[in-house]
Amino acid sequence: ETPFNVEALRKDFPILNREVNGKPLVYFDNAATSQTPQQVIDCIVDYYSNYNANIHRGVHTLSQEATDKYEAARLKIQKHFNANKSHEIIFTSGTTHGINLVANGFSSLLNKGDEIIVSALEHHSNIVPWQMLCERTGAILKVIPMNEDGELVISEYDKLLSNNTRLVFVNHISNALGTINPIEAIIEKAHQIGAAVLIDGAQACPHIKPDVQALDVDFYVASAHKMCGPTGVGILYGKEAWLNKLPPYQGGGEMIAEVTFEKTTYADLPHKFEAGTPNICGGIAFGAAIDYMNQVGFNAIADYEHDLLEYATKKLLEIEGLKIYGTSKHKTSVISFNIAGIHPYDIGTILDKMGIAVRTGHHCAQPIMDFFKIPGTVRASFAFYNTKAEIDALVEGVKKATNMLL
Ligand code: PMP
Repeated sequence: ETPFNVEALRKDFPILNREVNGKPLVYFDNAATSQTPQQVIDCIVDYYSNYNANIHRGVHTLSQEATDKYEAARLKIQKHFNANKSHEIIFTSGTTHGINLVANGFSSLLNKGDEIIVSALEHHSNIVPWQMLCERTGAILKVIPMNEDGELVISEYDKLLSNNTRLVFVNHISNALGTINPIEAIIEKAHQIGAAVLIDGAQACPHIKPDVQALDVDFYVASAHKMCGPTGVGILYGKEAWLNKLPPYQGGGEMIAEVTFEKTTYADLPHKFEAGTPNICGGIAFGAAIDYMNQVGFNAIADYEHDLLEYATKKLLEIEGLKIYGTSKHKTSVISFNIAGIHPYDIGTILDKMGIAVRTGHHCAQPIMDFFKIPGTVRASFAFYNTKAEIDALVEGVKKATNMLL
C-alpha cells in the first residue's frame, strides 16, 4: 500500500481524461460498473498479444502459460476472500451467474413447504432466481422487511426463521440505497436453525474486503466489473461441503471426469462448475484488478469514500426539495435521491449534457421503489477515484437542472 493520493490514482484511469458533451467526464455510476485502471487494461492486452490459448487442454506452451496465469488468478482471489481452499472459488460470468448456479443446485435439495428468506433490499438478480426455484420445488419465499431508513428489520427476520427455513439470501450492500446489511448477525441466526446463507457481494467488494471464513458464510458471489475488473467474469465462493453437495449447473467440456453414452462422471471441484471455455482473459484480469485494489488499500478506500459520502450528502441536502432515500448510518458511497416534482430521468438527462454520469430509474430493485412509492431515483455512486470537486460539479448540475425543470 502506498499513501492514498487521489490525483495520482486518477492518472491510472485513462477514461477519466475524456470529455462528454464538451465537458470533463464526471463518472458517478460506479455502482453500475467501475472504471478500469491501465494496469488491468495492460493485463488484457498482454493476454491477447502474447499468450491467448485455451486452458487445461493443450500440451503446448501458450496453453500452459494461459492455464498457469488463470489458476494463479484463482489463488489470488482465494487469498483476497480468505477462502480455505482454492477449489472453493468457482469462476462465473458474474454475480447473476453465481446466484443462478446455486439456485439451480438447490432444486434437487428442496421440498414442498421448505422456506427461503430474501430481503426487501435485494437486486432483481437476487429475487427472480429464488422465485423460479420456488416454482420448481414448491418452496415458499419470505421477505425480511425494511424501515424508512432503508435498513433491514432484524426483529422481523427473527420471526421469519423457522424449522422450515432452508436458505437465506441477502446482499452485503444494497446497490439502490447503499445500506450495509448486518450480515454477520443474519448468517449466525440462520446457522442456528441449520439454514444455509448466500451473500450477494456485488456492491460490497468495491468497498470492503470480505473474509468468507470469518463470516462463516456458505456462499458468497461477486462480479469483477464492479471492482476495477472487466465485465463477464465473477466468482462464486462456496464451502467445499456445499459445493460437493450441489449438482453441476451446466454440462459440457471441462466439467467431466469420463463420458460415455451410458453414463458421465463429473470432474472434481472447481471444474465441476466450470463447463466450457471460460472467460480466460477476464479471470486473469480479475486477478490484476484485485492486486490493484489491494495496492490502493481497502482501509484507505473506505475512509476516503466515507469522506466523499458525507461531503456529498451535506451539499445535496442544501438543495430545496431534495430527498435522499437510504439514510442508514451504515452505508457506502451511494446517494439515491429525488427532487420534489421532477422525474429522475429528466435530471439524469440534463446532468449528462454537463458530462455527469449518474444512473436513473429503479436500479433493478423495483420492490424498494414500491416501498417508497416512487418510480425511481437519481443515483450518484462514488468510487475512490472521484473527488470533492466532482461532487461540487454534481451539486451545481442538480441545481441548474432543478431551475430548468421547475
Ligand atoms: N446484485 C447486486 C447488489 C448488484 O448491484 C448487481 C449489479 N448491479 C448484481 C447483483 C448483478 O451483477 P451482475 O450484473 O454483474 O451479474
